[in-house]
Amino acid sequence: MFETAIAGSLPKPSWLAETQKLWPQWKAEGLELTQAKKDATLLWIKAQEDAGVDIIGDGEQSRQHFVHGFLEQVEGIDFEHKVKMGIRDNRYDAMVPQVVAPLRLKGRVHAFEAQLARAHTTRKLKFTLPGPMTIVDTVADRFYGDKVKMAFAFAELLNQEALALQADGVDIIQFDEPAFNVYMKDAADWGVKALERAAQGLTCTTAVHICYGYGIPANVDWKKNLGEQWRQYEQIFPALAASNIGQVSLECYHSHVPPDLMKLLQGKDVMVGVIDVASDTVETPEEVADTIGTALQFVPKQRLFPCSNCGLAPMNREVALAKLKALAQGAALARQRYGDA
Ligand code: ZN
Repeated sequence: MFETAIAGSLPKPSWLAETQKLWPQWKAEGLELTQAKKDATLLWIKAQEDAGVDIIGDGEQSRQHFVHGFLEQVEGIDFEHKVKMGIRDNRYDAMVPQVVAPLRLKGRVHAFEAQLARAHTTRKLKFTLPGPMTIVDTVADRFYGDKVKMAFAFAELLNQEALALQADGVDIIQFDEPAFNVYMKDAADWGVKALERAAQGLTCTTAVHICYGYGIPANVDWKKNLGEQWRQYEQIFPALAASNIGQVSLECYHSHVPPDLMKLLQGKDVMVGVIDVASDTVETPEEVADTIGTALQFVPKQRLFPCSNCGLAPMNREVALAKLKALAQGAALARQRYGDA
């Protein structure tokens, strides 16, 4: 009960990449970089296990960014000529690569890190991929001329990689769709369908992560303007509840999301965000257990998985480590408190 997991990313050590950045530069290249990525992956597997986290991830140590890491292995994308584009409904600018030709995978995308992680943990392994709608929102289209068509083209490629990850022994494949919280109508109209295309044929557990973004200033400012109640989930959860995706990861602690919206996810496992990634203040186990207690009013305990609100990539490494421990200790406390209830 209350198996813990992180949303996905963890800080990169300073010898691997620039720290506390969303698009950090690597510190090495070629084989040396590959080795450094492997070392960082092993380090975080060990750190998650030692902290007491139940479901382990690779911490996304092998990708520069959660979307562009996937795109680097896609043919038809021009990475040489990035352009500035407003993303997440122009919330912030990013330098994005351009789609210039039909999309095809060059080969495996995440083989080495998934296989490495599988070989070094006996706990459940979760692996993250960007969702099709969020990819479409993080790349410039110079070829398809149609968002939906391009999303389904990406969904096919994601599906190929997801099936291969499943064959690598991954237990949970999670698609990250922060864009669902920005384009709610599109998400309900076609975003969830594109997501299901990406997950087609998977027999392992499938998940989707929908959040209010990393704890970067642009997101923190955006959240200030979302009003008293953040009801974005209300528009997309019904479509997700009707989908074949098994788990939904959502933002909860320190958010203005009305917790009763979790009721809309009946029949799904819910990864409840009990760790704030926009604050360096480390949660106490009591605070984590309290958030779990709140969520228990709306989610059955067998379906509740305590998680972080979002990825921890841009955070300070020591803070992230302390938050992993708080997550595990808080879940342990919740097991004592609510175990027999
Ligand atoms: Zn997130």
